[in-house]
Amino acid sequence: METLQIKGTILTPSLGDAYVAALKRNSYLSILRAASIVQPADVADITPVLAYAAAQTSPTQVAVKGGGAHSSTWASSDGGIVIDLFKLNKVALSEDKNSISVQGGALWEDVYKITSQAKVEVVGAPLWFVGVGGFTLGGGYGPLSGEHGLAIDNLLSATVVLADGRVVKTSATEEPDLFWAIRGGGGQFGIVVEFVFKVHPYAGPFTGGLLVYPIADKSDLRKVIDEWKKTQTSAERFTMHFSRPPPDFKPCVIIFPSTLHDVDGARARRSFAPFLELSAGRAQLPFRTVPDFHAVSHAADKALEHAPRRLVIRGTMFSDFYPELLGAVWDKWVDFTEGNPDVRASAVLWDLTVPDRIADIKPGETALKTRMPHYWIAIQGRSTTDESVDACREFTSDVVQFVRAKNAELSGQDLGWFLNMCQGDEKPEDVFGENLPRLRAVKATYDPGDVFNKGVSIEPLV
Ligand SMILES: Cc1cc2nc3c(=O)[nH]c(=O)nc-3n(C[C@H](O)[C@H](O)[C@H](O)COP(=O)(O)OP(=O)(O)OC[C@H]3O[C@@H](n4cnc5c(N)ncnc54)[C@H](O)[C@@H]3O)c2cc1C
Repeated sequence: METLQIKGTILTPSLGDAYVAALKRNSYLSILRAASIVQPADVADITPVLAYAAAQTSPTQVAVKGGGAHSSTWASSDGGIVIDLFKLNKVALSEDKNSISVQGGALWEDVYKITSQAKVEVVGAPLWFVGVGGFTLGGGYGPLSGEHGLAIDNLLSATVVLADGRVVKTSATEEPDLFWAIRGGGGQFGIVVEFVFKVHPYAGPFTGGLLVYPIADKSDLRKVIDEWKKTQTSAERFTMHFSRPPPDFKPCVIIFPSTLHDVDGARARRSFAPFLELSAGRAQLPFRTVPDFHAVSHAADKALEHAPRRLVIRGTMFSDFYPELLGAVWDKWVDFTEGNPDVRASAVLWDLTVPDRIADIKPGETALKTRMPHYWIAIQGRSTTDESVDACREFTSDVVQFVRAKNAELSGQDLGWFLNMCQGDEKPEDVFGENLPRLRAVKATYDPGDVFNKGVSIEPLV
């Protein structure tokens, strides 16, 4: 492997610190020791690596790393080759500012630096360190999704290195089946080396902040949701967290409200007012208006600085904020975080983005399972010790299973799992639903040997 003629870097364990640094992921639990890590300097570097892996007598696993933010081990390999795309992070805004091309290893940080400077927007992740690759291929639910749909709904074209080394362009008119599959089907069809996204007009200034509600009674949860429903529009983006903030680590509901187009602060005053009233006399931090999304994507930096990095995330979709669903998740989370200080940083995040635009796209138009109006929940298990990791895994798994089943019971709709927050042990039909047969057929065309097999398994149709 070390003798492969490429312009990029090849790292093996014998290289010590540089190799160890390249294994790093957002979660310590996502790290596996690869036999080699290849960091392509350009797209042409990728084909020889795939050829090398294919030529070995015993199959060598190939894993692809975008931003390394996924909390599974899908972007890592135990003894195989990792193709780490981090050097492929160029971003170019078109001259007419209608589209932006982003290389497959870019972080949203790389994109927001450009869009913020040019005063335009793109549907991306809420946090700067999330990779464009994994986020987009799993659907991409972002803070601007209320106004513009998901990242995949804004994808105009992509360039993909296939398992056999060919580089193909894909769009609604070129290799359309592949274009369909990568919009929600994940990274199992090839290595996306370039995404081209639709660009939208400036959506700032953005006003955000933090409201902390120590919860004495579960009915308070319902009050928070009722207030939000009264004021919500697609130009507000709220998230609700169950969290135990220092210094006393009491169970709290924390609301992160954020408004778009907040030119003179009027929108924030209007949409935050009921929440401020609800929290009267209780802890809250001041609100801040920032000019651009780059600043918004750094808003959680301080809070995340000390968060334990043994992180496991699982997520699922739900149809509405049913009081019995909210209350039961609250009880499960309080119980889990009460007794063991190792895991008290574990949190539950409810995304409160208005779902209408997401539901504008017809089911089956992209590979995403669910297009009926829905929300998503992320269960974040965080542990300060190795000993408590299994408990976190069990907790996240238990809560998402509960939410999925309870939501199905209450709404009559089984919305399945959220690919961007899966761990790989999920049944593919529960992630891709009715799209699975077509995904398997596309897989048979573009990756018949199942080279890109990390993730929720999509077996090529035989
Ligand atoms: C703190 C945090 C907040 C998050 N918030 C959201 C959110 O608001 N909305 C949301 O939708 N998701 C969210 N996510 C989930 C996130 O979108 C996924 O974890 C996503 O996979 C991260 O992308 P990445 O490129 O960093 O991942 P990686 O860990 O690098 O890769 C994840 C998967 O994608 C594949 N992949 C990555 N890049 C490519 C590529 N260019 N070509 C082919 N395959 C590729 C990898 O092989 C792997 O299977 C969040 C995650 C975290 C940790």
